[in-house]
Amino acid sequence: MTTRPEILYPLFAGLDTLKGVGPKTIKHLSSLNIEKPKDLLFTLPNSAVDRRKRKTLRDIEGKGVATVEVLIRKHVRPAKKSLPYRIEVEDSQIDFVLVFFRGDREYLERIYPVGERRVVSGKVEFYDGLMQMVHPDYAVKPDEVEKIPDMESIYPLTTGLTQRAMGNSVEAALSIAPEFPEWIDPGLKVREKWLDWHLALKSAHAPMEMRQLSPEHPARERLAYDELFAHQITLALARMKFKRGNGRSTAGSGVKRSKVVNSLPFKLTGAQIRTMREISADMENSIRMNRLLQGDVGSGKTLVAMMSLLIAVEAGGQGVMMAPTEVLARQHCEVLKPMAEMAGVKLEILTSRDKGSRRKAKLRLLEAGHVGILVGTHAVFQKDVVFSDLRLAVVDEQHRFGVRQRLELGKKGMVCDMLIMTATPIPRSLALATYGDMDVSILDEKPPGRKSVKTALINMNRINDVVNRLRVAISNGQQAYWVCPLVEESEVLDLSSAEERFRHLREALGHQNVGIVHGQMPAEEKDAAMASFQTGKIGVLVATTVIEVGVDVPNASIMVIERAENFGLAQLHQLRGRVGRGTAQSSCILLYQSQLSQGGLKRLQALRETEDGFKIAEVDLEMRGAGDLIGIAQSGLPKYRVADVEKHRKLLPIAQSDARKLLHDDEDLVSERGKAARILLWLMEQEQAIRLINVG
Ligand code: ADP
Ligand code: MG
Repeated sequence: MTTRPEILYPLFAGLDTLKGVGPKTIKHLSSLNIEKPKDLLFTLPNSAVDRRKRKTLRDIEGKGVATVEVLIRKHVRPAKKSLPYRIEVEDSQIDFVLVFFRGDREYLERIYPVGERRVVSGKVEFYDGLMQMVHPDYAVKPDEVEKIPDMESIYPLTTGLTQRAMGNSVEAALSIAPEFPEWIDPGLKVREKWLDWHLALKSAHAPMEMRQLSPEHPARERLAYDELFAHQITLALARMKFKRGNGRSTAGSGVKRSKVVNSLPFKLTGAQIRTMREISADMENSIRMNRLLQGDVGSGKTLVAMMSLLIAVEAGGQGVMMAPTEVLARQHCEVLKPMAEMAGVKLEILTSRDKGSRRKAKLRLLEAGHVGILVGTHAVFQKDVVFSDLRLAVVDEQHRFGVRQRLELGKKGMVCDMLIMTATPIPRSLALATYGDMDVSILDEKPPGRKSVKTALINMNRINDVVNRLRVAISNGQQAYWVCPLVEESEVLDLSSAEERFRHLREALGHQNVGIVHGQMPAEEKDAAMASFQTGKIGVLVATTVIEVGVDVPNASIMVIERAENFGLAQLHQLRGRVGRGTAQSSCILLYQSQLSQGGLKRLQALRETEDGFKIAEVDLEMRGAGDLIGIAQSGLPKYRVADVEKHRKLLPIAQSDARKLLHDDEDLVSERGKAARILLWLMEQEQAIRLINVG
């Protein structure tokens, strides 16, 4: 299994091994990410041209390609060079003309002899009320009509690459495509009326009817399923290896947790109770927990995390919580500390700021087991950080945490239960594709008493009105965030625009009222700025997107987002989630530059219409496609060639459960079907999976 099965060699050879594919074509194909014959196989036509012969062009509407038999009546040479050469023809019902720009008379008279019949095929259109066909693609004698294909596949191209070259290359690849043993569950295949791989591939490349181009057509669906299935096998393998690693039972008395719950000024939501139960059951189970906690902003994930950490401590062990940024780690620390004290648990924070003897002292306490809960940034996963008995790791707000990273934690000796928290709602289909190796808990209920946030779209040219409103608001003790635009992909530019806005707002609202926080600030300054906002010393906090994740300042009730059209939907939703946390009516002002694009407008409107993160995520997925939604490179979501998580969403749960079942029944993939699945993994370049099988 460490080497690619021989049956696949031809498909993974160079494109130059294909008959009739030359260096120029190879270069063009490469810019379409087509490097091997197998890439050609999975590059399906995105449309097709119907060239089936019809009796007449009479009933044709608008433009399109048509094929019809005609009688050639008359050649009309142009009076001027700039005019086209015309050939008048008639089909069984109407007259029309064939049009040639800069047509060569001798040539045309040979191909279209007057008084004879020809079958012509090409694009027809109305010009000056007359039907015409410009430069027919085909002109053949009636008894040679089979030279014209019924349907012609149209492939995605790149400059310089012709349909013909692409079509020939695909055909050459198809001609060497082997037949594989079947990896799909036989029952599923029958139920879905799927074809064998080889036949499905042929059919997908040579549609006979337009409906065969639809993603739901069985041939395409089967090929899409193969891709999803291969990826889900990888995830299922990762899941299996993960769970097998040092799982143990962690059960707590509940004493510390009750202390905290009893001290809360509110009641837990139903969703919180449910997810806590799911987590504690997982932890008590001797199989290692690998769970994703998904919840919209403000759904109360932090508390659920704290309860989970307390289980670890109640069981005599330790828990660690990792946040993606320093700001967030500090905030978690501040929120969790009082709870930890209530429960009688020592909580420490560890970030890259801890150096020298202070760091050593903390590490010593940790190793001795005196620290029950450690909160921090990536620093908590450094080599020299040793726990006495780590039982749970919580990773917060890490939607950038792919399967690979999850597996790597295991390698670092983090073989404890894992809880990943994300505030980015992900549509179910996408969650399956990205987090298919995890179990999922969803906090789908917000704490009661939350006021909805009023969202308004305001043109940038009315910025002064907004500033005036802010002046009134802060004089009434309200607080506001002012988020500055993402100018380019450049932090420097972001920064200069933020600093400029900062100066402007200081002038307008008074120096003592406005603060700024951004990514490049020294940590201490960042803390100081956050602190003066948190304690209400300043009314307006100008920020770049560093405040995006997780910051909790209940008194802040206004969120201004400048050039909102430049932000992604999910990001806007996150930012808006920073307000509406306290008792005041909150508002979110989306400032946009005029001449909003269609997409920009649609995004901002979606945001105005709903506060439901899952709905927003669905809109986002629809508008942007899955790749963009979480950033393919970081998400562990593969680039599918045929499958589309949106259009093939119903296949995802099937692929997931079938992959898990396959491995459950045959974990080393040695049965007939298991062996076939290995070929699939190689075919789909799931190297990760292949490695996982190899480590045994
Ligand atoms: P998230 O991390 O999911 O965005 P947080 O955990 O930061 O949400 O919670 C947001 C706010 O809601 C916090 O101030 C928290 O104290 C509060 N909160 C959490 N659970 C509840 C609840 N059941 N009832 C009322 N308020 C709650
Ligand atoms: Mg949070």
